[in-house]
Amino acid sequence: MNHNDTNTNKEVYDDDIIIKDCIFCKIIRNEIPSVKIYEDNETLGFLDINPNSRGHILIIPKMHFENIYSLPVETWCHMNIKAQKIAVALKHALSADGMNIVMNNESTAGQLIFHAHIHVIPRYNDHTENKYTYIADEMEEVAKEIKEVL
Ligand code: AMP
Ligand code: ZN
Repeated sequence: MNHNDTNTNKEVYDDDIIIKDCIFCKIIRNEIPSVKIYEDNETLGFLDINPNSRGHILIIPKMHFENIYSLPVETWCHMNIKAQKIAVALKHALSADGMNIVMNNESTAGQLIFHAHIHVIPRYNDHTENKYTYIADEMEEVAKEIKEVL
């Protein structure tokens, strides 16, 4: 059963909290496209659309929490378990030379999307720029390579 709360812009779908105008909630509900690499009942991992490097992944909880302050500790732990698993997969699948695990909290710290997320960013010796642009079907190809070792 669903109900809306017009004051908070919050919808409750059974036990799931989602926010109507949140891009990441829309990704969870497949209302906007994403290139997913991992999914379970609590978390979703997908390719960042404007990545710092080839294979930059975002891990989000399926329930909407703004940032580290409101995340239930169990959800935070689960996200980190997945971040490690995905980091190892990126290391092997994409031959990464290094790995950043980052979370931005509040706009002062660079948070742009206010649905909590962990960045898993592979780094490469031959790509030191903090920006990468995918060509044509490359995102799907990268996702396939990662999923093969997950
Ligand atoms: P942050 O600055 O930590 O809030 O990071 C938000 C990230 O979300 C940025 O790296 C964006 O490139 C990424 N992002 C925004 N919209 C999308 C989208 N529709 N699909 C995938 N990644 C997105
Ligand atoms: Zn959300």
